[in-house]
Amino acid sequence: MYLGKHMPVWLDTANGTNFPHLEDEVEVDVVIVGGGIAGLSAATSLKMEGLSIAILESKRISNYITGATTAKIAVTSNLIYNYIFTNFGKEFALKFKEAYFSAFNKIPKIIDKLNIDCDYRRVPLYIFSSDEDSFDNLKSELDVLKELDIDAKIIHDLSYPFENINNGLLYEDQAEFHPKKYLNGLADFINGDGSYIFEKTKVLAIEENENILAIGEKGIFKTNENERNKNLNNDFKKNNDNKMKTIVTERGNLKAKNVLIATNSPIYDPDNLYKFLSQNKSYLLGVYTKSKFPQGMFVDHSPFHSYRSTSTEKGELVIIGGEHHLLEILKIHGIILTTLETSQKNLWM
Ligand SMILES: Cc1cc2nc3c(=O)[nH]c(=O)nc-3n(C[C@H](O)[C@H](O)[C@H](O)COP(=O)(O)OP(=O)(O)OC[C@H]3O[C@@H](n4cnc5c(N)ncnc54)[C@H](O)[C@@H]3O)c2cc1C
Repeated sequence: MYLGKHMPVWLDTANGTNFPHLEDEVEVDVVIVGGGIAGLSAATSLKMEGLSIAILESKRISNYITGATTAKIAVTSNLIYNYIFTNFGKEFALKFKEAYFSAFNKIPKIIDKLNIDCDYRRVPLYIFSSDEDSFDNLKSELDVLKELDIDAKIIHDLSYPFENINNGLLYEDQAEFHPKKYLNGLADFINGDGSYIFEKTKVLAIEENENILAIGEKGIFKTNENERNKNLNNDFKKNNDNKMKTIVTERGNLKAKNVLIATNSPIYDPDNLYKFLSQNKSYLLGVYTKSKFPQGMFVDHSPFHSYRSTSTEKGELVIIGGEHHLLEILKIHGIILTTLETSQKNLWM
């Protein structure tokens, strides 16, 4: 019996990177802190505009959240438009849609332009609920999708292994890819011609005229709020034009006029957004199934589980996610994985 590995399939099935750490000071137009999909996408766009970039990544690029994602590229991740429309109004919901669609449309263009082999394929997305009482949620979501001119429809005949589910929302022509291969392709494009990627280079602070503008992730949790607010220069946002900043790293300093922070959890946070953040832990299981998993991405809205598959040397691996919980709630990971496994065994019986 193959017991598998305790690591994301993406990191197991694509080449790792080995960029140097920062050693000598380099001159670039923009320093980007964080080498996940946000940092590398921004770097790609800026380099395409003719700017020079240095990415500073504390670990290895794409190995953090992006390396452990389910990598569904869709115009939605769940039943979210109704929530946004109801709570923030149509104008905001349209902006939200625009952001989603812009990223959704940009990825295939970049793949084509840079000729990246990253298993990108168009597949449908199904969102359903194994809790039958949630049908009203699907209908309300569909009403808002129509209002926002987003293509989707209710279906009643999901295929194996979800054939017992009576109702779902179908979004046709969505996509999935291999995120590590994609980011490796972006990294190949970014590095060189006056642009750099530095790994194992953690940013500790960003300073301007001796003011600390941003502090590293440990700092956020180490300093209390007063200290933190005293340290942060709230005018940075307004004045972040042409002033030279010093990016302090564990490997030495860099200077640049423009700094873009793409660390997922913010290390520069003038609006105190961290107050609204909560840390969640979620779990992914990769399984080889005896019966063929249908092409497509499937999201069970309630209770939340997500499904997609990816080709590996051993066959099609089904990636099942779910059972997320707040980090401060102590859970025994083994029990959660067993719960996830048991719920899936029932599904495939
Ligand atoms: C289980 C799971 C499934 C998901 N599924 C999907 C999905 O199907 N579709 C979808 O669109 N989204 C999905 N998401 C969300 C998506 O994966 C994330 O939004 C995205 O990967 C975040 O990318 P990022 O670049 O912002 O962050 P990251 O990938 O975490 O990159 C941030 C980088 O910053 C670096 N960093 C942090 N602090 C510093 C510092 N001080 N100095 C230098 N570097 C630093 C980190 O090491 C890290 O590499 C999923 C997320 C999870 C957890």
